Amino acid sequence: MSAMAEAVVDLDAIAHNARTFVERTGSGVMAIVKANGFGHGATQAARAALAGGASWLGVSSPAEALALRADGVTAPILIWLYPPGETFEKLLLAGIDVSVASVEALDAVAEAARATLHVANVHLKLDTGMSRGGALVDDWPRVFERAAELHRVGAVHVRGIWSHLAGAEEPGLNGLAEQLVSFDQARAQAAQVGLDPEIVHVANSAAALRVPHSRFDLQRIGIGLYGVEPVPGATHGLRPAMTVRAQVLLTKRVPAGTGVGYGLDYVTGKETTLALVPLGFADGVPRQAAGVAEFLINGERRPVAGRVAMDQVVLDVGDLPVHAGDVAVMFGPGDHGEPTVHDWARWAGTNTNDILTGIGARVPRRYESQHGSEQ
Ligand SMILES: *Cc1c(COP(=O)(O)O)cnc(C)c1O
Repeated sequence: MSAMAEAVVDLDAIAHNARTFVERTGSGVMAIVKANGFGHGATQAARAALAGGASWLGVSSPAEALALRADGVTAPILIWLYPPGETFEKLLLAGIDVSVASVEALDAVAEAARATLHVANVHLKLDTGMSRGGALVDDWPRVFERAAELHRVGAVHVRGIWSHLAGAEEPGLNGLAEQLVSFDQARAQAAQVGLDPEIVHVANSAAALRVPHSRFDLQRIGIGLYGVEPVPGATHGLRPAMTVRAQVLLTKRVPAGTGVGYGLDYVTGKETTLALVPLGFADGVPRQAAGVAEFLINGERRPVAGRVAMDQVVLDVGDLPVHAGDVAVMFGPGDHGEPTVHDWARWAGTNTNDILTGIGARVPRRYESQHGSEQ
C-alpha cells in the first residue's frame, strides 16, 4: 500500500449486497447512503447499489441529496430530515422526494411546487411507536385529509407512505408486531380519505431479513448494504465492503516494565516489540476499545497497547517479526483473521453503524472493483 492509512472499499461487495436483498426478499431496495454512505462514500456506494439492483436512494438531509444530484446521480432519492422553515424549492428542482409528517410541511411543499412548477412527490411518514420522526397517531386524520386534498388538486403527489421500526435488530423484535399493526391502521385511514400511495415502505436491513411481512414495496437498506450482518449471529451471505488498514511507521524493542502511551497505564510484561500504527480516535479507532482491541498484523492478532491517541495507536506485537511498512488491519471482512466491524462494536460498547460512520474523513477511501481499482 502507498498511503499511510486507507479505507479500501469493495464496490462489488456493495453491489452483491444490494442484489442479495433484492433476490432474498423479492421487493425493491432503497439504498441508504446517508452519512457519506455509512463512511464508504455516498456517490460511490449509491452507484454500486444501483448496479446491484437497488432502485431508490435514501439520505437524511437536503445537502446529502443535492450532493448526489451534483455528482450526476439520477435515481429517485428520498430525504426525511430538514430544518423548520425549509422551502423545498431546491429539492423539487432537483427531483428529490420529501418525507412529510405534518400539515405545515405539506403546505410548504405544495407552495414550493407552485413556485417552481415542479412535481412535489411526498412520502407520508408515520410514527407507529418509535417516537422519533413521523406524525403521531392523533395527527394522522389531519395529515391524511390535507394530503388527500392537495393530492386531489395536483398540488402534491402522495407517492409513498412509510414508517420506521424501533426493534428489528433486537433479539425480541421489541414492539415490532405492534408497530406493524399500527402501520396497517394508518394505511386503512389513508385509504378512507382516498389516498393510495404506490410505494409502501417500513423495513430496514434487519426487518427485511427477519420479518417478511414488513417488506411491502421497498426496503430501506443501510447497514446490510455495506455487508455487515444486521442481526448478530445470523448470516445471509452479505460481504463486508470496507477494510481499514495502515502501514506500521516504526517498531521498537523494549524491555519488561516499559510504560506505553498517555498515562503509561499499559506496562509491558516482558521484553517485546511495539509497533506504531497511524490510526487514532480522529480516524475512528474508538478510545473505549483500548484494553480489548486488536489489529491483524502479519497474520496474527495483536493488542492495542495503552490508550488510543488522536492520530495513532501502539500495538504490542510480542516476538512477531514486524517492520516499518508492514500492514496492520483494523477491520475487514474477517476472511484472513482480521477483526470485523462487529468485533470493534463489541470492544467499544457500541453498534456497527457507529464504527463505520466513525471512520474519519482523514482516512483516504480507495475504491476497488472487478473493473479495476480507482483512486
Ligand atoms: C438509517 C435508516 C435506515 C437504514 O437502516 P439499517 O438498519 O441500517 O438498514 C432505514 N430507514 C431510515 C429512516 C433510516 O434513518
